[in-house]
Amino acid sequence: RKHHYALILFLLITQGVVAQRKSIDQRVDSVLKLMTLDEKIGQLNQYTGDRDATGPITNNPNKLIEIRDGKLGSMLNVRGAKETREVQEVAMQSRLRIPLIFGLDVIHGYRVTFPIPLAEAASWDLPAMELAARVAARETAASGIHWTFAPMVDIARDPRWGRVMEGAGEDTYLGSQIAIARVKGFQGKGLGDLDAIMACAKHFAAYGAAIAGRDYNAVDMSEHTLWEFYLPPFKAAVDAGAATFMNAFNTLNGIPATANSYLQRDILKGKWGFKGFVVSDWGSIGEMVPHGFAKDKSQAAEQAIKGGSDMDMESRSYLPNLAKLVAEKKVPVALIDDAVKRVLRKKFELGLFEDPYRFSNVERQEKELNSAENKKAALSMAEKSMVLLKNEGQILPLSKNLKKIAVIGPLAKSEEDMHGFWSVLWPNDKLISLYQGLQDKVGKGTELVYAKGCGISDTSKTGFAEAIAAAKSADVVIIAAGEAFDMTGEAKSKTNIHLPGVQEDLIKEIQATGKPVVVLMMAGRPLIFNWTADHVPSILYTWWLGSEAGHAMANVLFGDYNPAGKLPMTFPRDEGQIPVYYNYYSTGRPSMNDRDTRYRSAYLDMPNSPKFAFGHGLSYTTFAYSNLKLSSKQINATGQIKVDLTLKNTGKYDGEEVVQLYLQDKVASVVRPVKELKDFQKVMLKAGETKTISFTINKEKLAFFNQQLKWGTEPGDFKLMIGTASDQIKLEDTFVLN
Ligand code: BGC
Repeated sequence: RKHHYALILFLLITQGVVAQRKSIDQRVDSVLKLMTLDEKIGQLNQYTGDRDATGPITNNPNKLIEIRDGKLGSMLNVRGAKETREVQEVAMQSRLRIPLIFGLDVIHGYRVTFPIPLAEAASWDLPAMELAARVAARETAASGIHWTFAPMVDIARDPRWGRVMEGAGEDTYLGSQIAIARVKGFQGKGLGDLDAIMACAKHFAAYGAAIAGRDYNAVDMSEHTLWEFYLPPFKAAVDAGAATFMNAFNTLNGIPATANSYLQRDILKGKWGFKGFVVSDWGSIGEMVPHGFAKDKSQAAEQAIKGGSDMDMESRSYLPNLAKLVAEKKVPVALIDDAVKRVLRKKFELGLFEDPYRFSNVERQEKELNSAENKKAALSMAEKSMVLLKNEGQILPLSKNLKKIAVIGPLAKSEEDMHGFWSVLWPNDKLISLYQGLQDKVGKGTELVYAKGCGISDTSKTGFAEAIAAAKSADVVIIAAGEAFDMTGEAKSKTNIHLPGVQEDLIKEIQATGKPVVVLMMAGRPLIFNWTADHVPSILYTWWLGSEAGHAMANVLFGDYNPAGKLPMTFPRDEGQIPVYYNYYSTGRPSMNDRDTRYRSAYLDMPNSPKFAFGHGLSYTTFAYSNLKLSSKQINATGQIKVDLTLKNTGKYDGEEVVQLYLQDKVASVVRPVKELKDFQKVMLKAGETKTISFTINKEKLAFFNQQLKWGTEPGDFKLMIGTASDQIKLEDTFVLN
């Protein structure tokens, strides 16, 4: 009988939910009918609500008038359960009481800071990245915020571009998988759940290909490259249910992304069926004036709405101009209605019409923010993000019985830089520096001696002597080198990406002491440090690891965690090689290995190969690859091939390996890259353990965009490569697509 009641209750609830879902479109329509044109335009308007010298925005009644008048649909940069509630209360005084959406750049954590996105990408650990986004979403939602402007899914092949730190690196397949993981993480069980926030795939599109790596610069790109390499992560984000998109500052082949109806209407909302809304990038609608695309903001507003931009972030072009443009019959009201419906639909899905304050709950905020569980997730993600570039002579992991460790370098005691760019800053926040992490790790028997040596960008070597003395007195030297948190990020493009200042000289002089040296590189992008790479036996690329940085680094240094990260981006030897990436096209000219060296497609002064390849990363243990078996050497367009191989942990430590599967389509109507990542698996193997690893190759993995930009396969020969890095292929075979 009990069961019976439970069943009825269950049916009632689920039917209620279904009914509610079904009716969202109807409810949107009924709200729309009540709205004046001005109120509609208000929904498409987004301003920032930053704190200023006078405190939170609620101290500033003037800034709230537009909200009360129904002239704002969303506000960014307001945070906290209390503040968001107070601002929402003002929206509830507007005629139609339409709730605001609060948005914020939650790029790698909210209260607890996670590693920068590029670092996380180096983990190749999709569940971990999903969890990182999940934790960030829980904290963000508990602070009254409904929307993050993340993930950035721009493919980035140019480390001069400062925003490489915000994405998943250079690879389309890896980037697409990570886009899915992050969207799923942010949106959790789906909008409406109190722990879910809206994701925003950005920057649509091709922003990562700014000419010469200069931020905001124009992008000129073939349609083929756009479809083949730059659009797929966005498509993956749509398919994963991303609630919103953000467009981009750049022009693409002469047309600003913001007014690009080919991108936003034909592809995104048309071909891909995207039902969410598109927000402009900060001020990007108004910036079409200096671009030389619109003569004034009114024309910019017209072009943007026609081009499919639904919401105007901070350019103040829509609010003052759209009504007039409608009156002049330049903009059909149907375009505005469509944009408003997209915005309202999300407000319904978030449950804000039921309860506009449902996310703004001070008690929940207290409990959720900075919880032990969240910190644990940040620590684990930080461990997974590090890449062991080199470990000759097996200096690492360090013994726990060392008497004295010298900790040297400008970043050894830095807390601030561990944040990385684009973190949500909290005054008085305590981050764990490397030094602190080591201190918390070592026992009483181990002494730490610290010397800074030099500042990050110093040109003076006056601190070297003290550092050298410290090194000489120690059993092992750990050098913390790299960049300050604000050297890589938005508007942080650089022509020189060598390790800054005299840091490499410091490393040289410490290495000359003959002591065992470990270098930790803390940075937001691939840096160039050739001398170090050639001479220092152990190098760990730590990126910027967030709140728990020092603990994570100490765990890796002492072997409590065995590093398993792999580079998601190629590390060049020199800026002159950029862009350099693993999935390039072969030329018709001889390669480096050919005997005829006269007309090589190569530089005169440097090899073509990078310093560290995409996918590179070592472990404290070693892995042997063997026994590659294909279930068939033939595949037809509907079939599949099962690929098996044997992986053995041949070293002394338990460890994880990222097994990478690359393919090459040997002859095609459009030249295909020398290799392309098409699958990977991260596997844990105990010391001595052997496992069979299996992959499936199907048509999906063999398809590409042909000359007509149609996605599909062509019969022919394929090369299969499996390895531990893009330049460390361990097993190879071929098969034929019939
Ligand atoms: C960035 C966006 C960001 C926005 C809001 C812009 O400058 O390009 O990625 O979401 O600011 O802060």
